[in-house]
Amino acid sequence: MFSAILYFIAGFLLGHLIPRVPFMVLSRTSGFNKRFPPHPEPIPLSPRLTQRVLHMQLFHKLGTWTTLLPLIFGYVSLLGGLSTFGYGLFLAGGWTLLSRAQVLLGGPPTACTLEMAQRLQMVMNIADSEDACCPHPQPEWWVESVRCASCSKKLETMLRPDLGRPRKDGFFRGWLRLWLSDGHPVVLSDDSQN
Ligand SMILES: [Zn+2]
Repeated sequence: MFSAILYFIAGFLLGHLIPRVPFMVLSRTSGFNKRFPPHPEPIPLSPRLTQRVLHMQLFHKLGTWTTLLPLIFGYVSLLGGLSTFGYGLFLAGGWTLLSRAQVLLGGPPTACTLEMAQRLQMVMNIADSEDACCPHPQPEWWVESVRCASCSKKLETMLRPDLGRPRKDGFFRGWLRLWLSDGHPVVLSDDSQN
């Protein structure tokens, strides 16, 4: 009985982890992050940052597809006699698929969205125009908002999600945090700080 529970937990953890591998692992290589300041420093707005937001969205979507793996492996394990392990895999895969499907019903979107990329582009457009906050605007994306590095004006209230940079809090703690947060920002917006 005890080993059955262990098998179930192992299956569930694996099934939960597999769909998150693309965004947790693929984007962390140093070559992919060369042109960004290290985590958790603010990132200057640029077309490259906008592209990164879209890349991260792609990785999250890729993760939804890899949910098929725990579903298939779970099914095979069920057939092959490893029923508790297979059930764990199947349940976690199904759970992930359902939570991702919520987006279609107006649920919370993935951590990085097209709208986010568009808002960043708008801030950059304004910074280049006559309506800029100061003579030398340098918009940067901090954890809780986009602010100008020259005049400190808050340009956009948009929490920064995980953008795929290797994390300062180390491999394991960083990994655990990403796993639990799914890349969503973990701080709450606090206007009194700004
Ligand atoms: Zn400014």
